[in-house]
Amino acid sequence: MEKTADVVIIGGGIIGVSIAYHLALKKAGKVLLLEKGQLGEGSTSRCVGGIRTQFSTGINILFSLESIKAFERFEEEFGINPEFKRIGYLFLATTELEIEVFKTNVKLQRRFGIPVELLNPDEMKALWPYLRVDDILGGTFCPWDGYAGPSEVLSGFVSGAKRAGVRIYEGTEVMGIALKRDRVNSVKTNKEEIDVPIVVNAAGPFASSVGEMAGIKIPVKPLRRQIFITAPFHLTDQTIPLTIDFHRGWYFRQEVDGLLLSGPLDSEPSFNLNIDYEAMAEASENAMYRVPVLEKARIARGWAGLYEISPDNHAILGRIPEVEGFILANGFSGHGFQHSPAVGKVIAELISEGKTTTIDIAPLSIERFKKGELIIEPMTAFKE
Ligand SMILES: Cc1cc2nc3c(=O)[nH]c(=O)nc-3n(C[C@H](O)[C@H](O)[C@H](O)COP(=O)(O)OP(=O)(O)OC[C@H]3O[C@@H](n4cnc5c(N)ncnc54)[C@H](O)[C@@H]3O)c2cc1C
Repeated sequence: MEKTADVVIIGGGIIGVSIAYHLALKKAGKVLLLEKGQLGEGSTSRCVGGIRTQFSTGINILFSLESIKAFERFEEEFGINPEFKRIGYLFLATTELEIEVFKTNVKLQRRFGIPVELLNPDEMKALWPYLRVDDILGGTFCPWDGYAGPSEVLSGFVSGAKRAGVRIYEGTEVMGIALKRDRVNSVKTNKEEIDVPIVVNAAGPFASSVGEMAGIKIPVKPLRRQIFITAPFHLTDQTIPLTIDFHRGWYFRQEVDGLLLSGPLDSEPSFNLNIDYEAMAEASENAMYRVPVLEKARIARGWAGLYEISPDNHAILGRIPEVEGFILANGFSGHGFQHSPAVGKVIAELISEGKTTTIDIAPLSIERFKKGELIIEPMTAFKE
């Protein structure tokens, strides 16, 4: 294993591998990616692949639009089909506040040229007859939204990065980061110590423990989300959009022959990856409430994964003033998969050119928490 590098990336999830690929394109020198287990074994392999433009802040919309361009040309660039399926996202509002916020969101999204529609309950019933709409006040639909395959996208970035010269080491845990006069000097691993001036924290839900290695507090908490899949179930011949019952924090979409149902999101941080009966019951109740015919469906399997939540549900990107050479790519709050292409691109720009040109990431700096400049959303953010 190398004993020196120009850049070390800690974490081989979708964010780390995208950064590695984009750095290699920029010819950023010797780039090493270190993953303590196997590539993608963290949140990336537990993610459901959702991609949407329907966000309620301009900065998230910019990351989506830039990333969608990459998903569209992914096969051409990497030779791997990312299985990007534009089934649309349908958000349902059941309270006056929700519908007012949705209307504000639509205005914002349309300013970015996004073709989002505001629908009334009758229009929704006509389009998706299986939905219960008697308590719905309205909804929004955007055909640009959909989902892609996390493992396909991961493989694309990994093979692209390797082809461009990045060296990837699995089973290599970073145990410490040594500083010299407030600059990154080396990383200690369970194998070698590597002299390196630039380290990228791409450790997903483990971001804060990697931050501590450099003496930095990164406000990212791991929160468990459970997901369930039904046995094969035929709901309709039409395309089913990813449908979000906003008030219940529940969503569903087609998954091969069955349906994917979201389970609850924990309120207390933990690294627990178990699924439980209560969560399955809650997912089933939400499903039967919104789509009554799902009473006949049977849950076949499920899994749990960790979101990496920041205090304002927005990513934490870029440098930190206290430690030169320590770069953050953390806190994606459930949106890291869909924003990974743009995140890789901007972090590579920051490292190789000293500034970002694709998207201004200043609003996502960790400094915002100290300055009290959190990004405010009109309502608690939806998380896939
Ligand atoms: C149930 C669920 C559904 C989701 N659905 C969506 C969705 O629809 N759309 C969307 O955009 N996002 C979704 N997400 C969020 C998405 O999965 C994450 O935002 C994304 O995977 C984060 O990628 P990452 O590379 O930062 O983290 P990870 O994939 O967790 O990768 C971090 C890696 O760092 C490694 N690591 C940690 N510490 C060290 C160390 N000290 N040394 C070496 N390696 C280390 C870990 O082993 C891990 O592999 C979902 C998440 C969950 C849990």
